[in-house]
Amino acid sequence: MREVLVLDVDGTLTPPRGRMADAMAHCLRRLSGMRPVFLVTGSDIAKLRQQVPREVLDCMRGQFVCSGNELWAGDKLVYSMSHSFPDAVIDFAHELLAASSYPIRTGCHVEERTGTLNLSVVGRNADLAQRRAYLQHDRQSGERLAIARAIEARFPDYEAHCGGQISVDVAARGWNKGRVVAEIRMHFFGDNLCEGGNDRPFARALASDGPQHRVHAVSDWRETLAILDAAYPQELVRGEVA
Ligand SMILES: [Mg+2]
Repeated sequence: MREVLVLDVDGTLTPPRGRMADAMAHCLRRLSGMRPVFLVTGSDIAKLRQQVPREVLDCMRGQFVCSGNELWAGDKLVYSMSHSFPDAVIDFAHELLAASSYPIRTGCHVEERTGTLNLSVVGRNADLAQRRAYLQHDRQSGERLAIARAIEARFPDYEAHCGGQISVDVAARGWNKGRVVAEIRMHFFGDNLCEGGNDRPFARALASDGPQHRVHAVSDWRETLAILDAAYPQELVRGEVA
């Protein structure tokens, strides 16, 4: 059986929406020479390329973006599963965002991506401080989970998950990170594995696929780096696993 590494990005390999640290970039380039490495993120390819150096992306096997609804390998789009969201879903999303009492609104609140709808009360134009402030509010209020649950209650054919610090990702049921699971042993790293988190469907799909897979819940990229460095030490011979 082949082993592959599959890693979430925001909060797992990088600070949320931030650039990848040199130490992590170095680690991933090293690992890509030993095993197939894939990324899986709710972001689209443009946002991913802002965060991860090109030379790191180029040595990987591929990147599942838009919650697994697009796969890229280098500059090549391998597949793209688009979905046309009904007006009723989009209108209800706008209603829920407008109903929030959170006072800061920065713009870009509903973004359609391939196969997913990305919602944000504070808006995707928020800077880092505004994102952190919203996250604090969300932790106290549970607002994003409430929005996700409201969407699922109104539209049972859709599912919604919290992603990153400010987002709720909406998709047709089953169109989530869980799509990435195939007949390979995977080690998945994610920081959003809690109830309602957008890494959870992937973990659930791995668990139902069989006991051969491993899920690593991490709190930030430093923890990911520590686990990777410990599990795949420098001494391992390049190409040890074909
Ligand atoms: Mg994450």
